[in-house]
Amino acid sequence: MQQSGQSVKLIRDLYREGTSYVFARNPEELAKEYGFERIARLASNENPFGPSKMAMKGMELAISSIHRYPDTIHSDLVKTLVDYHGDFPFVTGVGMDGVIETCIRALVNPGETVALSTPTFSFYGLAAKAQGADVRNIPRSKDFSVDTRSFIAGAKDAKIAFLCTPNNPSGTVTPPEDIKTILEQLNGVLFLDNAYVEFSDEDYRPLMKRYDNLIIGRTMSKVFGLAGCRVGYAFVPSWFKPVYEKAATPFTLNSISAAAATGALQDHEYIKKTIRYTREWRERVTKESPKPVLPSGANFVMIDTSPMTGDQATEYFAKNGVLVRSCRSFPGIADHYIRVCAGEEWENKRFFEVIRSL
Ligand SMILES: *Cc1c(COP(=O)(O)O)cnc(C)c1O
Repeated sequence: MQQSGQSVKLIRDLYREGTSYVFARNPEELAKEYGFERIARLASNENPFGPSKMAMKGMELAISSIHRYPDTIHSDLVKTLVDYHGDFPFVTGVGMDGVIETCIRALVNPGETVALSTPTFSFYGLAAKAQGADVRNIPRSKDFSVDTRSFIAGAKDAKIAFLCTPNNPSGTVTPPEDIKTILEQLNGVLFLDNAYVEFSDEDYRPLMKRYDNLIIGRTMSKVFGLAGCRVGYAFVPSWFKPVYEKAATPFTLNSISAAAATGALQDHEYIKKTIRYTREWRERVTKESPKPVLPSGANFVMIDTSPMTGDQATEYFAKNGVLVRSCRSFPGIADHYIRVCAGEEWENKRFFEVIRSL
């Protein structure tokens, strides 16, 4: 078929124009543009330590059987998850993003409501719209905490509601007590996004034993250092596991990623080291930043760059060899914030130099 005006009609209305996921700028291009040999990459909340040795070992071993389809239920990975967390029902997906998409696909008919506590991670809204859902944004308080009363009022009749704690991009932690209150009032499912929970003081897992309308999403991309492998998983209620499996893409993960995740979950030293380092970094930024830093339970902080806009500050950092994330593209946020994550020592050092000169 020829590329013409005709072909545009083939595309779903949703994808003819409009927004997609916003990625951090490409560091290689940036380095070239501003003449830096290397760029401090502090925009994507990745683990600065490189991959865990045990994850690499797992991947090496998996390569020799890559001509075979994966184990359909990823039993090694699931067994390791049980060893790590205890005996919960688990599901897996291509990143937590894949888990989010599958949960929405499994639960939401076109026209039904998906509720979000905004500003927050943008993929929930994109995935919900792709499913034809009606997305309802429930604003957080001025300090980015969740006002449980207004959240419950807005999310009560939603098929699925998303709440991120620690929240991306603000870092805000919602206490488990508040999550309990919310779970008791909702008619639908609460998807609690715990992508950064390992860096916080909270543990929401015990709630799984008491509520059958709770899904807790986790990722191997942050503390476990496997962003490139695309592995996510979730704690789900037992009634939901077979439903998820019906809705999921067959096999969910590739064998190499599954083996990497299995190795990384067993590398306790790497995990401990990452958490210790990140918490020290967080304390230091909070103390030493000349610009206000919001309280964070994650491996990143949100910084108020007023009177500069997020984009202006991000551009200034880029010119000085540091990649940070402007928060402008997060729906529902005032435009004077950047998000910065912990990096390697040299990256953090450069960041401090630049922010002092902002
Ligand atoms: C990074 C992130 C995820 C998903 O990460 P994956 O790489 O898809 O596993 C999910 N939620 C939040 C809030 C994140 O920041």
